[in-house]
Amino acid sequence: MAQGGGTDRADAAGGAEPAEDADRAGDVDQAGGGAGIHRGREAVFIGGAWRPAATDGTIDVVNPATEQVIGRVPAGTAQDVDAAVTAARAALPGWAATPPDERAAVLGAARDLLAARREEIAATVSAELGAPMAFATAVHADLPTAVMASYAELAAAHPFEERVGNSRVLQEPVGVVGAITPWNYPLHQIVAKVAPALAAGCTVVLKPAEDTPLVAQLFTDILAAAGLPAGVFNLVTGLGPVAGQALAEHPGVDLVSFTGSTAVGRQIGATAGAAVKRVALELGGKSANVILPGADLARAVNVGLANVFANSGQTCSAWTRILVDAARYDEAVAIATASAAKYVPGDRLGPVVNAKQRDRVRGYIRRGVDEGARIVAGGPDAPEGLEAGYYVRPTVFADVEPAMAIAQEEIFGPVVVMIRYEDEEDALRIANGTVYGLAGAVWGADEESAVAFARRMDTGQVDINGGRFNPQAPFGGYKQSGVGRELGAHGLAEYLQTKSLQF
Ligand code: NDP
Repeated sequence: MAQGGGTDRADAAGGAEPAEDADRAGDVDQAGGGAGIHRGREAVFIGGAWRPAATDGTIDVVNPATEQVIGRVPAGTAQDVDAAVTAARAALPGWAATPPDERAAVLGAARDLLAARREEIAATVSAELGAPMAFATAVHADLPTAVMASYAELAAAHPFEERVGNSRVLQEPVGVVGAITPWNYPLHQIVAKVAPALAAGCTVVLKPAEDTPLVAQLFTDILAAAGLPAGVFNLVTGLGPVAGQALAEHPGVDLVSFTGSTAVGRQIGATAGAAVKRVALELGGKSANVILPGADLARAVNVGLANVFANSGQTCSAWTRILVDAARYDEAVAIATASAAKYVPGDRLGPVVNAKQRDRVRGYIRRGVDEGARIVAGGPDAPEGLEAGYYVRPTVFADVEPAMAIAQEEIFGPVVVMIRYEDEEDALRIANGTVYGLAGAVWGADEESAVAFARRMDTGQVDINGGRFNPQAPFGGYKQSGVGRELGAHGLAEYLQTKSLQF
């Protein structure tokens, strides 16, 4: 495995480098494709330039598959956040006044650069998150590129002005956005906030997850190379309770957009509420995969497991609860048991992001056993044959009661629970019976019956009979899964405020 630290602080300071000249070194052996990875700069990006952070603290970036340090970035502080917010405020009037088609052109250039650096992005995410290279390429690299493309189009096409009777209604940027993102889809979570914010005419300060800052730096180079004016986008790497909290609390930030745990989201929502500032929260989930009588059982179970085990179960919208009618429950469990065996850790299934997360997930598996659920695949022990890496065995629980912790709480690892229901009303009660409401799936004998059930689910997004993910469909939660929507036109609306002029 390639090793190395960041560039030195003096080298890192200075103007924004063109994308072609960004730090690149070494190969990612896990990737198999030999693509270079971005190793990290010991610099923050403020006002259009990479510069040393205010203090010397750094964060080592670890490859979760090898437990080796692969890069190093600054642990930014409130001082860096303050400088970044000041730069973003200074750049706001100019960017807000830039015609939407010119903003769209910059986003289009960013899209092209994301596509051109696909392999480097995939290799970098693969190294800092541990994702298998095929998934890193198809999802971690290609999904953000698709989202950026959609906002390049929306920025040009969106009606920023409309007439309502004797009024002209203007949609104006909210202002300076503080974006705080998690590690599970490191680039997607960033682009899902930054692209609509820029399309709307907002300026941004980003605090990415401490576990996955490398692709955030790579993305910063891409935005600079795409021609984004100085100060419109700023990056401060650092720890959540330090840099993240400073950003959420900064009076110069008009909107805080956060994705992560419900616990931190609640805190950020309270801070924003006290300051009466806008907030968007994308939080956890415990989504139901409801298999109605008459549905294609094998397909529903197999696709369901693939949905959960993708990204090692670290997906907020994962369908982690499979609901099956009592008559076909045993058959469904047998299918799941056989299917889970195909997800071999270290091969098809990557590690989870860090040791803390591994221990947390294994703790939940033990708790499920203690609660009386039956393990039919996987378990809490380390997978065999892997010397290093934060791996968890893909685990399926049967005989799960809806009230158990493993059926109520977000585990965020490769763990599926299978719950038996008596009739459709019972299934609905169970599906809606958590504090979350982010996503879900319904499989029916026909589309109509599945849609009828989906309409009654308290959740923000439902896939019908295996419907494909749509990067332009609004994404966000009911109940404690969050506030606001990301992606597509609904995602753009989060970053706009309206003014009406009467004539
Ligand atoms: P967090 O909510 O702690 O992290 C998300 C982001 O918030 C990170 O950038 C983090 O920084 C930052 N942050 C942490 N504390 C604060 C704070 N006080 N003020 C401002 N920002 C802060 O998630 P974890 O990484 O700790 O994961 C824990 C659990 O959260 C997971 O097991 C999962 O259940 C859930 N989760 C949900 C996600 C989702 O997509 N909905 C994504 C990630 C996690 P830093 O990286 O330094 O901690």
